[in-house]
This record gives sequence, structure tokens and C-alpha cells, in this order.
Amino acid sequence: MYFDENTVEITGTLVWFYKICGREVWLMAHSIIPDQQDDNIDIGRFLHENTYQRNKKEIVFGNVRFDVVFQNQDKLVIGETKKTSKYEEASRYQLAYYLQQLKESGLDAQGQLLYPEEKKRIDVILTEDMERELDEIKLEIKKIAGLKKPPKVKKIPFCKNCGYKQYCFS
Ligand code: SF4
Repeated sequence: MYFDENTVEITGTLVWFYKICGREVWLMAHSIIPDQQDDNIDIGRFLHENTYQRNKKEIVFGNVRFDVVFQNQDKLVIGETKKTSKYEEASRYQLAYYLQQLKESGLDAQGQLLYPEEKKRIDVILTEDMERELDEIKLEIKKIAGLKKPPKVKKIPFCKNCGYKQYCFS
């Protein structure tokens, strides 16, 4: 399948993976299926195990889904519940991307990453700097998706949990 910079649909998941591995963004954008036989964690399973089952309060907004939505004093707060804070930076950008989507539709909201097992909550505020970074990230994702070949393999700790491990290292 041929991709150019305009055919890839940016999602929060792609933003998350961009912060982990650019090569993975290319593989996902090109619908390359990760190794289902891998004893380690494939992408679907990985996301499932690192994100709590969405509850009944799920809100669907365009291509964005939120786990929890609540009102904090006079502010709308959207929450994303994760099992581990190990990938906190990627999760912050993912949530900020959702906040930006809401803002573009006229809704001013704040975010909160929720880690119940660690009894931890991290506020995510969409600052101007964050927005600028997100705009760059979106351009970069489009550029990566438009490449003819995936970016070169760079071994990172995440590789051991990645469903593309066989694809990248055999
Ligand atoms: S195995 Fe490593 S290099 Fe390959 S896609 Fe996964 S994270 Fe990226």
C-alpha cells in the first residue's frame, strides 16, 4: 500500500508510539501485523495490559476515546487510566494530543494520568509549548509514514516487549 503524508490518520496511539519508537510508527501506519506467535507482548495485548479496560463512562469524540471524564470545580478533566507509569512521557503526549483535539473543537480541558496500582495521578496541562511540540510530532509522524522504507532499527529497552521484535532483529 502506498502512503504519503496525507493518507495517515494521526491517532493518540501513534503519538504514544512515536515517543517510543519511530520505526514502530512506520510499521503500524503501514498496517504491518506484529508477530502474533511472539511469546512476548504484541501491540494489541501490550496496549490492553497497560491500559485498564475502558469503563462505561467512555466518551467517544471523533477518533478520540476517553476513559473517564469528570468535572473538577469549573474545569473539565479527562482521565486516562494506565497500569504502569513506566511509559509516562509517551502517555503524557498521548493525553495532550487528546486535549488538543478537544481544544480544536472548542472544549477547554485538562488531563490526568491515573495509575491506581501505584496510587499516583499526574496532571497533564496543554501548554503552548506542548502544543507546538505536538504539531511537530504530527508532522514527524506523517513524514515517517510517508517514507518508502521504515527507519533503521535502534535497539531500545522497549524492543523486548515489542511484537515487531522478530521483524526487526531476524
Ligand atoms: S522491536 Fe524495537 S526497533 Fe523494532 S519496532 Fe519494536 S521497538 Fe522499534
